[in-house]
Amino acid sequence: MDTEEKRREEMDTMREILTLYCKAHHHTPAAGKDLCADCDALLGYALHRIGKCPRMAVKTFCAVCPVHCYAKEPRAKIKEVMRYAGPRMILHHPFMTLRHMFIQWRSRARR
Ligand SMILES: [Zn+2]
Repeated sequence: MDTEEKRREEMDTMREILTLYCKAHHHTPAAGKDLCADCDALLGYALHRIGKCPRMAVKTFCAVCPVHCYAKEPRAKIKEVMRYAGPRMILHHPFMTLRHMFIQWRSRARR
């Protein structure tokens, strides 16, 4: 997997996770990809960070990156979103989640 491919994958994963969370918590319509204004802003922020990440070539995913580039507030929100959506991603996107978990596990084991 090359760097840009990884970056795109991280962005896709982030979008899926936020969509799951938003629909469950903010009563946005279940159909379509629309997010509420808050989640949309958070997604924009996350995508911006991912787009700028200088460690994309060496790191795996933001969850296991030693450089926490998120500002305090969005980081707290993302954590909450992950706590909710993480386990549910397995049901909705089993392949994406397993792959993500495997990459995380591999990078933790290597540390
Ligand atoms: Zn929302």
